[in-house]
Amino acid sequence: MTDAAAKPIDVLIIGAGINGAGVFRDLCAQGLTCMIVDKGDFGSGTSAAPSRLIHGGLKYLETGEFRLVSESTYERNLLLKNASHVVRPLATVIPIKSWTKGLWPAIRTFFGSTTAPRSRGALLVKAGLALYDFYGSKARQMPRHAMLSRSRALAEIPALTPRVIAAGTYFDATVTAPERLVMELTLDGLGMSPESEALNWTAVESQADGTVHLVGPEQARRSVRPLVVINAAGPWIDRVNARLGLESRLIGGTKGSHILLDHPDLLRQLNGRMIYFEGDDGRIVLVFPYHGKALVGSTDIPADDPDAVTCTEDETAYLIQSLRDLLPGLNFDHGQVIFSYSGIRPLPRSEGVAPGLISRDHSAPMEAATPDRPFPVISLVGGKWTTFRAFSEEVTDTVLTELAVTRRRGTEDIPIGGGRDMPRTPEERAAWLTAAAAETGASVDR
Ligand SMILES: Cc1cc2nc3c(=O)[nH]c(=O)nc-3n(C[C@H](O)[C@H](O)[C@H](O)COP(=O)(O)OP(=O)(O)OC[C@H]3O[C@@H](n4cnc5c(N)ncnc54)[C@H](O)[C@@H]3O)c2cc1C
Repeated sequence: MTDAAAKPIDVLIIGAGINGAGVFRDLCAQGLTCMIVDKGDFGSGTSAAPSRLIHGGLKYLETGEFRLVSESTYERNLLLKNASHVVRPLATVIPIKSWTKGLWPAIRTFFGSTTAPRSRGALLVKAGLALYDFYGSKARQMPRHAMLSRSRALAEIPALTPRVIAAGTYFDATVTAPERLVMELTLDGLGMSPESEALNWTAVESQADGTVHLVGPEQARRSVRPLVVINAAGPWIDRVNARLGLESRLIGGTKGSHILLDHPDLLRQLNGRMIYFEGDDGRIVLVFPYHGKALVGSTDIPADDPDAVTCTEDETAYLIQSLRDLLPGLNFDHGQVIFSYSGIRPLPRSEGVAPGLISRDHSAPMEAATPDRPFPVISLVGGKWTTFRAFSEEVTDTVLTELAVTRRRGTEDIPIGGGRDMPRTPEERAAWLTAAAAETGASVDR
């Protein structure tokens, strides 16, 4: 029996993380009427808990995921252009402790071994960075990599371990306000499709005969009749599918935690750069300046309850010890930790693979419509923050095919939120500063 009060819409998107918001914007740009709902605030799930890198995925070269690196470097370059108000270049240093280590394990990993290399020597880093430059050349926005001698590396970062024999330098990028970008994508979508709606604190409760029931703040109830449903619930995907009457085992997440340190000496050593280094166990750890503090992460531990993730004492101790090994010239203690956060990577379920080697690529399996559920459900599995636009484009194309609608416009050149009208070249920036100073009476420095 159909529910007469249920609003007919083209697409219901469940989950307003970066992937849900990205798909929402793209579908709205095609003139479709959509609704995006989130059981919490916009962008409050995994999308609020990343390392905040907009990166090409240097380490995915080890697992031979060249397609992913190619896509990620391109998407990084597009975000530097389309969201330059919150996505900024990040100079990065890789300290290196040997010349040849890691070559053999890297070859094994490349050919499918499931054990990660424990150490990466100068030859491997050099080859990786050259390849990374090659993949990053499409729509390039930043300088190429360079290698530093031991003395130069120690002159640049005096507190660095004397065990370094060289360092590699390159550029990636960082997003300074990930939640804001999620919000801006959602608002941009609403701007392009006035009939569409975005509801936070609204959860999907159940589905019957094609009507999806939602429950919002103070138990307010709504129902909709979508033609297509996108399950963009990240690590909650299998739970949301269960609410729609579907049994799935798509996600095998891993928990990652970060800590934020109040440490002015560390910031002086970083001098605006990220250090991307190996922990004692061969895992990649990173540290970079974030809003006047130092952000350090992350761990990678199998976990499956996204509603109960916290950074444990053990994880904090692991991250602090990694910093002590890297920078013996500085003091680190737990008292410097002013904040910590955790999230679950919505990775595809994969048995017997080391957490760090599970593919970060994305997929969007579709469950076809049935007589009891007259709409297909597309689940957005995996993916990275960085690649949300490409993932959204793929999913939007699938929806357009389902609905027999032709794409009106692409998203590669659409600026996001406050990224609109940002100056793009040094000359444009100088002119923009002069005009803003004249208009406001503030100094150009301010
Ligand atoms: C530790 C860590 C570090 C990372 N670092 C990086 C990085 O540096 N760079 C990078 O590119 N990527 C990084 N990632 C990956 C990236 O953060 C994720 O891939 C991405 O945020 C996933 O977004 P999503 O929209 O799919 O999921 P989410 O952001 O989790 O969104 C899903 C949403 O669904 C909502 N939801 C759940 N159940 C319901 C329901 N019943 N009804 C309605 N809504 C519901 C949730 O509230 C949530 O907001 C990292 C991930 C982690 C965990």
